[in-house]
Amino acid sequence: MKLTILGSTSTIGINTLSVIDQLDKKPKIFALTAKSNYKLLFKQIQKTNPDFAVVLDKTHADKLIVMCKKINSKTTILYGKKNYNYVSSHKKCNCVMSAIVGAAALEPTFRAVEAGKKILLANKESLIMSGTLLIKAAKISGAILIPVDSEHNAILQILMSSGLEYNIGTKNFYSKSIKRITLTASGGPFLNYSHNKLSNVRVAQAIKHPNWKMGKKISVDSATMMNKGFEVIEACLFFGLKSDQVKVLVHPQSIIHALVSFYDGSTISHMSDHDMRIPISYALSWPGRYKLNIKSLDSNKFDNLTFSEVKRGQFKCLDLAFKALKMGFNAPTILNASNEIAVSKFLENKIKFTDIPVIIEKALKHVPAKKNSTLSSILASDELTRKYTKELIKKI
Ligand code: MG
Repeated sequence: MKLTILGSTSTIGINTLSVIDQLDKKPKIFALTAKSNYKLLFKQIQKTNPDFAVVLDKTHADKLIVMCKKINSKTTILYGKKNYNYVSSHKKCNCVMSAIVGAAALEPTFRAVEAGKKILLANKESLIMSGTLLIKAAKISGAILIPVDSEHNAILQILMSSGLEYNIGTKNFYSKSIKRITLTASGGPFLNYSHNKLSNVRVAQAIKHPNWKMGKKISVDSATMMNKGFEVIEACLFFGLKSDQVKVLVHPQSIIHALVSFYDGSTISHMSDHDMRIPISYALSWPGRYKLNIKSLDSNKFDNLTFSEVKRGQFKCLDLAFKALKMGFNAPTILNASNEIAVSKFLENKIKFTDIPVIIEKALKHVPAKKNSTLSSILASDELTRKYTKELIKKI
């Protein structure tokens, strides 16, 4: 395996390298990419000797070149968006971990899909934004998509363990065997907060997830439950299901990640500690499994596992995701773009936590519906929504 890691300095990127570090037979690292964290990227270059390393800006690339020269590194340093695409679709690489945070992952991920790679998809935005277009491109090129998101990775593990074949992205394929899938959600740090209490939530509270250690943006998405909303859309796309076949259950302990209900009355669940190295490892090793030095789930954690239904109106962002799924066309693109802007403004203390769904709802209503037929039409919808959302926030 020759691997490109898009976003090697992100939480998922770091965990991917940590899984690889444990393997006796390590995949060759073809390329590592980062946005601006050139210092960490340099450490990763030193350790893994990739053919290429890419950053966004020339200034960071120049610094890296100087640092790499000092250690006689053979890694070629590149910069700019185009070079993310270059290393993700390069003929010498056959596997791509898509771990860039946010919408910036779309293009290089899309290029990797078009080039027919095995894509380990940790970045959910690229799938939410492009929807069936990315799936169609994978069908044409023969690219294999493996979900890294813990819930979807758990579902894939259940499907494979149940003797079903890999068939990601084919509408109604799994519907023949599966009645329903259930995604679990921790409920985030504000599970039982009133609207009043929610409106006073500070950034530091929102980025402190009770179970998972994650980046800031995804932590806020977990707190609003938009993350779960994205995951519902992701599940429908990956497993070719209808929205009424996907259920969300609040499970604050985050031990059971997903449940699959079959037509014979059986429901099979996947359990593990909340450690992202577990789904990353399965994605890398699929269809087999690696032998890793990761602790098995402690049986004392089986005590007091609780589950509760999500009520409509309890998490506005989750409701909006279901709404976008029903709206179809570019609604998921609008959902994602307006959320990304709203969350970034919340992180800058410019808007309140409770403003996030209000802003997204307005964007869904006012940004024109269009069919997502090409990558450029997706990017146009994305840009238009960002512009609309920024203007809207200025008025608040
Ligand atoms: Mg998840």
